[in-house]
Amino acid sequence: MTNTTETLAPTETGAELPIVSHWIDGAEYPSASGRTAPVFNPALGVETKRVALADQSEIDAAIASAQRGFEAWSRYSIAKRLTVLFKFRELLNERKGELAEIITSEHGKVLSDALGEINRGQEVVELATGFPHLTKGEFSEGASTGIDVYSIKQPLGVVGLISPFNFPAMVPMWFFPVAIAAGNAVVLKPSEKDPSASLWIAKLWKEAGLPDGVFTVLQGDKLAVDGLLNSPVVQSISFVGSTPIAQYIYETAARNGKRVQALGGAKNHMLVLPDADLDLVADQAVNAGYGAAGERCMAVSVVLVVDGPPRAGSGASRSDGTAEPVGTVADELIGKISERIERLRVGNGVGGPDGEPDLGPLISAEHKKKVSGYVDIAEADGATIVVDGRSCSVEGGEDGFFFGPTLIDDLPTSSRAYQEEIFGPVLQVVRVKTFQEGIDLINSGQFGNGTAIFTNDGGAARRFQSEVQVGMIGINVPIPVPVAYHSFGGWKNSLFGDAKAYGVHGFDFFTREKAVTSRWLDPATHGGINLGFPQND
Ligand code: NAD
Repeated sequence: MTNTTETLAPTETGAELPIVSHWIDGAEYPSASGRTAPVFNPALGVETKRVALADQSEIDAAIASAQRGFEAWSRYSIAKRLTVLFKFRELLNERKGELAEIITSEHGKVLSDALGEINRGQEVVELATGFPHLTKGEFSEGASTGIDVYSIKQPLGVVGLISPFNFPAMVPMWFFPVAIAAGNAVVLKPSEKDPSASLWIAKLWKEAGLPDGVFTVLQGDKLAVDGLLNSPVVQSISFVGSTPIAQYIYETAARNGKRVQALGGAKNHMLVLPDADLDLVADQAVNAGYGAAGERCMAVSVVLVVDGPPRAGSGASRSDGTAEPVGTVADELIGKISERIERLRVGNGVGGPDGEPDLGPLISAEHKKKVSGYVDIAEADGATIVVDGRSCSVEGGEDGFFFGPTLIDDLPTSSRAYQEEIFGPVLQVVRVKTFQEGIDLINSGQFGNGTAIFTNDGGAARRFQSEVQVGMIGINVPIPVPVAYHSFGGWKNSLFGDAKAYGVHGFDFFTREKAVTSRWLDPATHGGINLGFPQND
């Protein structure tokens, strides 16, 4: 499957590039707006495509098509909807390699990680095939004499999804399998930075037999987002992205009377107790801090160490065979993380003669500058830059947006570099004296997306899960993204709204319930006239 139309757009250099179009009425929909934005291959630092930016007429066309799609799809029987869902799952499973390549070429993450995000999204497709059970109503026979009460769950109608750049397949898949299974029609506004994955998915739905208009892709920027927020046809908004935009989406959609869930940014802490296995901690901190170049909302950003005196056997061997303790717990951990960083390879996510690198580039030159700026701030605020990735260079990728794994120690918690989300391969070690001080620090932050504790003390882990004000918690698990039959979402500035993504929350969000009270009269009985409020007897 290809992902672009024949339409070409001129660039500043005079070259003509393919335009990634909308998907409306079951087909690519070339944009007439004349507005486009660049799409880069971040490993090469080269603009490879342009993406259409919708104008109002294209927004209207997308929403009108989705409304028609909804009217057809919501009348499909459960059995027919199931056939389409299972076919989509089968096709996705067969062809996900193609989608992974598209993701790597526009996002930059390594191919195996691109496949990893698709696999986690596929879990939600599989969950959605269980929709007949998850959207069943309830029935109470004989609630009152001759009266039965039951509930039915119906789709909302046209629902809007707005997604970020960092998971161009998985984040939309947190929502659309559930929304579509429940009978809604989806309009997806992907990130303009990596827009092609959505178009590939749209084509797969078509092949799976989904009626036209049920899955629509509206490419664009703020204009397209505002078009969805302000349309009276769009019934709900599911947003994932940065906190300031999440807050804007929540407030605007709610003011317009829509159901809304808006997931925002994060700054995730990993609390390390002195009894933890520090080799396990170092491995997991590196995996969770530097995987996908730190561009994950569940990445670990802060390694929060309950610091203490050197641990027995922590240092180099003495001549008598015993080990000499060196440094504190945090010092030992920093040593272990630094050793591991030395072995990491940064490069083009598609791999080369030496196989796949460990991490690819950042999404854009602008974002690289922002990440670098945060390391400058940390340095200016007195932190020690233990490993500095600012001048990372990659052979053959000299213009790519690469940023090397960076490790920071002694960062004051008053620094903006500690308090704000960086969204790059930057790990910060913060030392605290007690377990309670660690919990208090986590709870004092603006975000509450994910956190983890590393310890062998079950009692401490249990207290942590109870007291920490965060939506997703790992116990010796660094990236605790819940499986599809639980729900995904943070607390505080990481989620605006009441419903998390997927799981039971997802089905609740994408359906609304009706309660029906019915009386079928027994020919032998008749209540007669009674103007009082209905009573049950
Ligand atoms: P972003 O907020 O810049 O963009 C997200 C979406 O909003 C995009 O589709 C974009 O086109 C649109 N948008 C951008 N500016 C807008 C504006 N002014 N008005 C209306 N719409 C606008 O986020 P991003 O840079 O694409 O993604 C990274 C962010 O997403 C990080 O903060 C990350 O933590 C967050 N994220 C959160 C989760 C989560 O589950 N909480 C998951 C993934 C990513």
